[in-house]
Amino acid sequence: MELQDLNVVVIGAGVGGLAAGALLARKGAMITVLESQEYPGGCAATFFRNGYRFDAGATIGCGFHDCGPMDILGKELGIIWPVSLEAVAWQYRHQSLNLDLPSQRFEILEHFPRSAPFWKEQAELARLLWHLSEGGLSWPAKGVRDLASLARKGIAGLPESAHLFQFTTKTVLEWLANHGLDSDPDFVRFIDAQLLVSVQTTSQYANAVNAAIALDLPVSGAYRVKGGIGRVSELLSKAIEDNGGAVLYRKKVVRIDSVRRQVFGIETADGAAIASDFVLANLSPESLALLTGSENKSAVVMSECPQWSAFVLYLGMDPALFSALPTHHVQIIGASGELAEGNSIFVSFSFDDEPDRAPAGLCAVTISTHTRPEQWFKAKEKGMAAYLELKRAFTEHMLDVLSEQFPQARDAVRSIAAATPVTWERYTGRFQGLVGGYPQTSLFKVRGPATLFDNLFLVGDSIFPGQSLPGVVTGARRAIELLLQRNEKTGREQQ
Ligand SMILES: Cc1cc2nc3c(=O)[nH]c(=O)nc-3n(C[C@H](O)[C@H](O)[C@H](O)COP(=O)(O)OP(=O)(O)OC[C@H]3O[C@@H](n4cnc5c(N)ncnc54)[C@H](O)[C@@H]3O)c2cc1C
Repeated sequence: MELQDLNVVVIGAGVGGLAAGALLARKGAMITVLESQEYPGGCAATFFRNGYRFDAGATIGCGFHDCGPMDILGKELGIIWPVSLEAVAWQYRHQSLNLDLPSQRFEILEHFPRSAPFWKEQAELARLLWHLSEGGLSWPAKGVRDLASLARKGIAGLPESAHLFQFTTKTVLEWLANHGLDSDPDFVRFIDAQLLVSVQTTSQYANAVNAAIALDLPVSGAYRVKGGIGRVSELLSKAIEDNGGAVLYRKKVVRIDSVRRQVFGIETADGAAIASDFVLANLSPESLALLTGSENKSAVVMSECPQWSAFVLYLGMDPALFSALPTHHVQIIGASGELAEGNSIFVSFSFDDEPDRAPAGLCAVTISTHTRPEQWFKAKEKGMAAYLELKRAFTEHMLDVLSEQFPQARDAVRSIAAATPVTWERYTGRFQGLVGGYPQTSLFKVRGPATLFDNLFLVGDSIFPGQSLPGVVTGARRAIELLLQRNEKTGREQQ
């Protein structure tokens, strides 16, 4: 079928769904995005509440550097992103250790001088990976054609890179051990803290290749998105509409109708039925299984590591508390040295030159921590009192960790709200509120966009390469590649 005649329904207006929809709309396909909320963005949305515009989950714009996935996407769609580079990506704090993470690793090298050879390898690997991901990555490979194209791209672009192949099966801890860094608890904690927020697991399990690109973020650049990270999705939605498509809000998909391996329609909660040639599901595999009623849930386990959800505080605060910081983001590991479950927090606050983000003289603050979802759903089952008590305990614990580094923190708080895994499940439609993507433990056990249905593909951070804005955009390109191949094949079969 000609692209102009192709009807594509995208379920969900997260960054992955919108990027795929916008690229296809630009190529001429007819795109309809169905979004259950009133605004786009999902985990990377910015929402309005009591005079504040809070970033819901994601706060750091990444992949906007020259030839990065967001930069290329913007150029292709004619979008000028409202972004500017932050001089310091974020600050890392644990007890008296206080490290700025700018694009040069001076402070890190000063503090951990033995780590220089490790960072040299990381930089080489990241350079190769950014190069490979330019314009999309044909991974997981579906055949010899994909493998050949990857090899061509890698070898042609960076011929000296063959020795980096050894990292594909290494964990980060093994990599650190090669440099004698695994016995330095401060360095391992510093690396683990960065890995947890990016590849969703720590050095013991994280794959070295995934980690290399994640650790590159301060170097490739952390970008401020003016108006809040949700502007990215708003601009992608506009690009779809400018290219003749539609983004419909309050349209919750409740059923995907299929016959054998073919999806033929979508039903929404308000009783509408929509026909489509192809469907792009911006969903987790578990949520997709519920909508199709056919995909075996046990077949969608991504790795041996359990997945995380998030507990997030949305605070109205006096910005004076953060006035000495060289950045708008700070990662704090509490005195216990443990990570997740409120022991480590990531704090982001809005810029004072954005008056629409907060009432006069205040700022909008998002503070997140990783948490296992089960305890939250158990507490909810026990009753509202148990659930609210858990919420209170997490809130207090996170404010304690913040106060370790900023003793006046509690006095600076003007308003407070929280999102638990229960909130995330309701808001994103993801089973157990599993947000942040899958733990990146292996390059060879990853999920691609293909599903049990020939004309239905997954997009979003459940598929390779996983979480983050550039991650889901790279995954969206792979979904489009497979969709177009499938369309071509169907066309040939019908001739
Ligand atoms: C706390 C936190 C902090 C993060 N920090 C960063 C960061 O700083 N930088 C970064 O790059 N990344 C960050 N990430 C990761 C990033 O936000 C995500 O990887 C990315 O936004 C996920 O996009 P997605 O395309 O998978 O869609 P999602 O964000 O999951 O959106 C899916 C959309 O589909 C809709 N939907 C679901 N079910 C249905 C249905 N049945 N019918 C209709 N619509 C439906 C949802 O409402 C939602 O809008 C963070 C994530 C979290 C949770």
